[in-house]
Amino acid sequence: MRGSSVAVVGGGIMGVTLAYHLSRQGFNVTVYERGDNLGGLASYMLYEGARLDRFYHTILSSDLSMQRLIEESGVKDRLHFTATKQGFYDNGQIYPFNTPVDFLLFPPLNLFQRFRLGLQVIYAQFESRWEKMDEIPVEDWLVKVSGRGVYNKVWKPLLRAKFDSTSENVPATYIWSRLRRMMGTREGVTSTEMMCYLENGYYTLIEALARRCEAQGVAFHLRAPIEEIVIENGRVAGVRVGGVVEPYDAVISTLASPILANLLPEAPTGFRAMLAKQQYLGVLCPLLILKKQLLPYYVLNITDESIPFTAVVETTNLIDPQHVKGYHLVYLPKYLAPDNEMANWPDEQVKTEWMKHFRRMFPAFNEADIVDFIVQRARYVEPIRPMGTRDEIPPIKTPVERLYMGNTVMIYPELGNGEAVTRFAAKVAEQVIEDAPAWEVKQAV
Ligand SMILES: Cc1cc2nc3c(=O)[nH]c(=O)nc-3n(C[C@H](O)[C@H](O)[C@H](O)COP(=O)(O)OP(=O)(O)OC[C@H]3O[C@@H](n4cnc5c(N)ncnc54)[C@H](O)[C@@H]3O)c2cc1C
Repeated sequence: MRGSSVAVVGGGIMGVTLAYHLSRQGFNVTVYERGDNLGGLASYMLYEGARLDRFYHTILSSDLSMQRLIEESGVKDRLHFTATKQGFYDNGQIYPFNTPVDFLLFPPLNLFQRFRLGLQVIYAQFESRWEKMDEIPVEDWLVKVSGRGVYNKVWKPLLRAKFDSTSENVPATYIWSRLRRMMGTREGVTSTEMMCYLENGYYTLIEALARRCEAQGVAFHLRAPIEEIVIENGRVAGVRVGGVVEPYDAVISTLASPILANLLPEAPTGFRAMLAKQQYLGVLCPLLILKKQLLPYYVLNITDESIPFTAVVETTNLIDPQHVKGYHLVYLPKYLAPDNEMANWPDEQVKTEWMKHFRRMFPAFNEADIVDFIVQRARYVEPIRPMGTRDEIPPIKTPVERLYMGNTVMIYPELGNGEAVTRFAAKVAEQVIEDAPAWEVKQAV
């Protein structure tokens, strides 16, 4: 493959993993990233010199592709496993939700409802046909197995948390996938939940992987937004960046589909339209920096619909606080439907609204222990795939010759997470490696 030049557009975990696989095979790879750093959604912010994940990120004990990359990047010694706990906030009360005993005693549900909820979790482990799940509306599947009472009490608020107002038209795959992924973290008869974190966040992997890439000849360009993917006679000719066209044998986009659509004025209209109509949830994710621990849980799920944020994620119950200057980090996320006007709220408005509810939930928490409140947000986070649109998942090999793509829309029915993204990046790389010999033949002709 030596001599074949490939531009990777986007320096998130997908882009960096792709660069790693392709450069190992001798491709000349250049990565273009719009932002100041690599990492995209898995990037960091600096706080008093410490690197903090912009968004909470955990690696599950079952995330083997991620763990392999961590090992190959030489940062395995910075990966730590911790037993974590979760809870539920319901009707002003906090309940643990970890062991089979917690489950059997879970007060918001009666005994029969708890049994049906357990049945749903077990059902998801035994059902392996995602195509079947894709044809069932999520509400129908959950009500059928768990019953209406459990749906209203547990599933409906969780769906609201993840999908905002768009949950009605999504297929059962979304909860099915999540249940299967989460059960992969449970170990032993006590069902202890094991998760991992990297010291100084996910970016530790991205940085180490990028170094490996550089040693393999990859060039990274930061603050380099691609303005156009240039197509000539139905084939990719290169990328336009800073007003200049840089020629490449092939281009791989890792961008969210609607962003890619805007960079392809010369692509077939039908393909561009398919990319442009893909919808994504955004996220509004304030981070509270505290002097003291708030809760013993990594995540507290919230069933109270009057609270704007949908979970309390205290990452320092996973991460050792000594890795983040001794602070305690609490993320208060809210996923946003494309039309949710909260996306336009200024940070101050978010703070006022969020803190009003935080104080109501935790009346005993001492205000003097709050150090900071930092709002993070992102527009393209989780793709929404409504029922019956499976055919609209774009292919790795696009209709434009030598233009390839890989993004979280395409990893369906898996969910957007580092494990699925890095596995998919390997798949995209395989396709490029398979096709490249034909490029050389054509060039020789
Ligand atoms: C709140 C939250 C919590 C999460 N929690 C977890 C978790 O616990 N575990 C887990 O595994 N995953 C988690 N994820 C998901 C994970 O962050 C994503 O799946 C992953 O980062 C997606 O990587 P990507 O490379 O596909 O996309 P992105 O990270 O979106 O990367 C795309 C990149 O393209 C760049 N770009 C855009 N336009 C251009 C352009 N014109 N030119 C050049 N570059 C451009 C962007 O700046 C960005 O860096 C979480 C995400 C969020 C938001």
